Amino acid sequence: MKFMLDAGHGFNTAGKRSFDGMREYEFTRKVAAFARDMLASYQNVTVYFAHSDDRDVPLQERTNAANRLNVDAYVSIHANAFGSTWNDANGIETYVYTTNHQETYQLAQKVQNNMVSLTGLKSRGVKTANFHVLRETKMPAILVECGFMTNRNEAALMRTDDYQRKCAQAIVNALAAQYNLTKIQAPTPQPPTPTPPSNPAQPPVRSGLYKVQAGAFSEKSNADAHVRKLKSDGFAAFVFTDGLYKVQAGAFSERKNAEDLVARLKAKGYQAFIFTD
Ligand SMILES: [Zn+2]
Repeated sequence: MKFMLDAGHGFNTAGKRSFDGMREYEFTRKVAAFARDMLASYQNVTVYFAHSDDRDVPLQERTNAANRLNVDAYVSIHANAFGSTWNDANGIETYVYTTNHQETYQLAQKVQNNMVSLTGLKSRGVKTANFHVLRETKMPAILVECGFMTNRNEAALMRTDDYQRKCAQAIVNALAAQYNLTKIQAPTPQPPTPTPPSNPAQPPVRSGLYKVQAGAFSEKSNADAHVRKLKSDGFAAFVFTDGLYKVQAGAFSERKNAEDLVARLKAKGYQAFIFTD
């Protein structure tokens, strides 16, 4: 499966910011990045970005790329705005093109439902619109408005990692359900050394330890960034690889100690689980 994630706008797009200065793109790029990392835990998924941190990629360029790459679905991530001062307009809405193609509508419905259940915000429903990214894409394409930047509460939520992750998770859950994605199996046995093996084909050495994994990424730079974040939160962590770049946060001879670490990681908002080799 090939998916294109489209973080709406760019850093310097005029007008697209909240009254307290949050740029729409600051939010949408984070949701896209979290979604891509989450999608890395599924089999046979390739994720492309339509956007760039360097410039506001024109809409035509975004949809051309999606069509050329022949992606299976296109998800455009935005934040809503209404009025010229803080106001009460609120909630989540997801758009499909006016022809209301069935598969597209199903995907939109799943995104909308997951968004509302994970964020707890009001559902404004699935709607149709003649937006460029919906009209000019040849594959199912949806556009989700993840709350209102003109609503003080929702703008504050959008600044948080937790809310950004929830939006990403909602998109990923919807794609996984719509396209029957399968999770990559639990980690395969790893050599006990913290450095990546020079020869991944060498037979694994069993350590008998309870190890804690706190992330898996398709790109090493993302895994490295995750390690830095964990360290800044006081956790020891390093990257190992078996194709994916995985972040290990500890290894213990007693299962209880590994469970304690998982609990502390989860309390800080990290995903974590125990594996053995
Ligand atoms: Zn937008």
